[in-house]
Amino acid sequence: MIDIAYDRKERIYKWTEPESGEVLTAPSGAPSKAALFQTAVAMTNPELWEAAARWIGEEPYLERAIWKGVELVVNDGVELFDLNGRLLALVQSSDEYGRYGVSNIDGYVVCECPHYQDGGAAIDRLGQKTCKHIAAYRLAQTQESRF
Ligand SMILES: [Zn+2]
Repeated sequence: MIDIAYDRKERIYKWTEPESGEVLTAPSGAPSKAALFQTAVAMTNPELWEAAARWIGEEPYLERAIWKGVELVVNDGVELFDLNGRLLALVQSSDEYGRYGVSNIDGYVVCECPHYQDGGAAIDRLGQKTCKHIAAYRLAQTQESRF
């Protein structure tokens, strides 16, 4: 869990490194909040940060979905299932309307979310539509293989 708080009085974002208690700050604004989040991921989960950075390097057009996916992974929003089944994962929806199923349908990864279903999600180099839930599923898998 990476909890970035906004201090209204000082107009800055704050994140406390859990081990050292060191407080990192960033000025207000979405880009600096995103940068602080990425720093927090790099400090608390370098393997996940590296997996995301490597993937973005290969497919920069997926960057948005990938960082959203990282957010879902660090907030325990991904539940992985047996790889041999049709249901691959249940991923928390960001609007908290529940969870979306990520499934394997004839070798193609499919998500239930509107972004995927409406066709708005970015398409990766293999022709696979990749919403943030599918990105989260992929990133969560790289986490599993550590154990
Ligand atoms: Zn989705």
